[in-house]
Amino acid sequence: MLSDRIQRLGDSPTLKINAKANAMIADGLDVVNLSVGEPDFPTPDNIKRAAIAAINANYTKYTATSGIPELQNAIVRKYKNDYGAEYKPSQVIVGAGGKQCLFNACQAVINKGQEVIIPVPYWVSYPPMVELAKGVPVYVHTREEDGFLLTPEALERALTPNTKVLILNSPANPTGGAYSEAELRAIIDIALKEDLYIFSDEIYEKLLYGGAKFTSVCQLGEKALEKALIFNGFSKAYAMTGWRLGWAVGPEAIIAGMTKAQDHSTSNPCSIAQWAGVEALNGPQYELARMKVEFEKRRDYMHYRISQLANVSCPKPRGAFYLFPNMSYTYDMEFEGMTIRNSYGLAYFLLKEAKVAAVPGAAFGDDKFIRFSYAASMERIKEAMDRIALALSKLQPARKVKVVALNNTQTKVKNYVETEPQVSPDLRNALLAESDAHLKFDEYFEWNANIAGKIIQLRTNSPHLLDFWLENWYPGQLETDLEPHGVIYAVKGVTGREARAFYHSESRTGFIFNTAYYGQLRSVALGMVSDMSERMSDALMTHAACLDVNNKGTLIFGGPGMGKSAPVFSLLSQHGAKLVSPDNVLIRFTPREAYADGLERKFYFKTKFVERMETLAPLLDRSKCENVIVNKSECDNEPCLRKDDCRLDKGKSFCYSGFGNSRAMLDPYWIGGTDKYTRRSTIKNIIILHKESLTQPVTKLEIRKALEIIESGKTGMKTPGAPENFFNPHLLVRTSDRVDLQKKLFERLFSMTNVYYVNAEMGKDRLKEVVGEICGK
Ligand code: PMP
Repeated sequence: MLSDRIQRLGDSPTLKINAKANAMIADGLDVVNLSVGEPDFPTPDNIKRAAIAAINANYTKYTATSGIPELQNAIVRKYKNDYGAEYKPSQVIVGAGGKQCLFNACQAVINKGQEVIIPVPYWVSYPPMVELAKGVPVYVHTREEDGFLLTPEALERALTPNTKVLILNSPANPTGGAYSEAELRAIIDIALKEDLYIFSDEIYEKLLYGGAKFTSVCQLGEKALEKALIFNGFSKAYAMTGWRLGWAVGPEAIIAGMTKAQDHSTSNPCSIAQWAGVEALNGPQYELARMKVEFEKRRDYMHYRISQLANVSCPKPRGAFYLFPNMSYTYDMEFEGMTIRNSYGLAYFLLKEAKVAAVPGAAFGDDKFIRFSYAASMERIKEAMDRIALALSKLQPARKVKVVALNNTQTKVKNYVETEPQVSPDLRNALLAESDAHLKFDEYFEWNANIAGKIIQLRTNSPHLLDFWLENWYPGQLETDLEPHGVIYAVKGVTGREARAFYHSESRTGFIFNTAYYGQLRSVALGMVSDMSERMSDALMTHAACLDVNNKGTLIFGGPGMGKSAPVFSLLSQHGAKLVSPDNVLIRFTPREAYADGLERKFYFKTKFVERMETLAPLLDRSKCENVIVNKSECDNEPCLRKDDCRLDKGKSFCYSGFGNSRAMLDPYWIGGTDKYTRRSTIKNIIILHKESLTQPVTKLEIRKALEIIESGKTGMKTPGAPENFFNPHLLVRTSDRVDLQKKLFERLFSMTNVYYVNAEMGKDRLKEVVGEICGK
């Protein structure tokens, strides 16, 4: 449903912890919330009054996109007065928060594939902003010992000819790190020498402590003025987070570009907020000074308390309102059976045991740390620190548990990418040349597989793909002077190419670029074999689970969400039940019978099936796995995230059901020996699951009707993007003659079997019974 670019973005982990804290507060629990990123003071009265006056004066209409002249002028004046920097109003844009200005700047400056240097720890929104602009974030780790500041050496190491922008944030969220003038100059000099654009996020400008003087990038000379965009806003300095008002100043052309982006998204920020902003900048500043004094007191107190904790280190932050201590000593310690593994585990432990909400460091790119905000009253901070100290004192070194070392590979692309099946001979030749160029002799692997009697050769530079390929198929023998029936090139590291796949049917050549996700290779291989088998051997590849009960086979068709795996796994425990395949069989015909063959040596198995059958977990522990999550931030199991008992928090170092598409290469014999697995079954029954309301629980279908249903894709069985297609998502060639052939083969299959249309919405237990009855027929 969602676009790829949005799917690629992670959820905001900050928000998840916040939601949990709020739910606890709603339940009446006394939680100290140190996870917030906003001042706990109200907006000063003079600013509120200016807004009310603006409403009364009917300043309630659209304004110029980049802001009212009064506010632009106030901003120009601020830079002149504070830093002696000369900006023209045309170099100022006002937006709905510093955040919107940063977002628009990314849109205005970054081209696809250009690199943006982001020092780690970073503010959570920088990476997604860069990614949404199709840029490539380049993370540069800073060190606690350096006060989390970027060093010139680290910056230089990260530069490439493709670097376009450097993002700086001083004082910083989450570390409180801030650059002195000399430190900043050293970094900016390099950036200017390299002709980079500098995005300087100065939103915590006013919150710098210990008498330190803030240096703005606009003070560092003419050249800096030409290349730097400076972001700031009213949220932090004037306690105006909810008003949504911020600004950017910088080169006129970029500001004009940002204005275009804003023109076509939100237009001007709220007119009333803008008038409040004029007062904030032009009016008295003593509230700001008062706030700063209070923050500094809290920083000192909280830093003192944190420094008292054994094994915890925390550089004293120079600014902002956060502390970012290294509390990684707690990892692998346990309390009441729960082992802390990472910053998420720690945050959950503190929330549950100390009732203090904080943000896990992993959200900012460094898992060793955790962020406490001191935008809370001194009294609450004291309370929180007492509770944290008490909770930590309860942690015990973990008893030695047997750690299962998982044989797990993370692939960058974790799902199917588009396969283009209509490749011309010219394109095929070009793809061939491109693949060959990337298959260098010292990283070239080649292996033949025998898939339903067809020899498919893999040519790849990915050891991971070779590994899974070798394990998954029966080996294919080539007669000396014969070519394989088909060849797949799976090539990674092709610059400038998105992950994509292609298939040229005439020469039976598949191409896969820039994804080492095994599911893609398997799908192309199965697609090629479908193509060949249907053309040459009248065999039909189907996407269905296949069970054999007392030597009678049942195929179970069900699109996503039909829940076909639950009855399959529950039936498997019955006497006489054997699994042929959880998802894919090739059907062959004799004059009177149809039989189904499993083609693979292993099941390429969704690991989340352990939810259906707990006994699978120890089997998966010994299997080769792909993309099993080891970090809570990769979890997309929403129902599970909402519960309290996360396995990762409780000490497991991985989770089989956290990511819906993680896989294991499971040996089918491990499920229950030769009693529970067979490679072939004669098909007697077919079940088509659906969720159409107002139908009988079970209907026996005539051939015609069955064909119509399976052709229409009505039951969710349609392959996305394919209007008419018999149920085989791996099918590559979808020309009308091929679809007719599929239809004929399905007709033949249905004529030899009983076909049942089963409403999957009858409740899990009843469905198991019904499927069981049909399988026993
Ligand atoms: N930059 C940083 C580093 C921040 O912490 C924040 C607020 N959390 C912003 C920018 C955005 O602030 P706003 O959009 O409220 O102006």
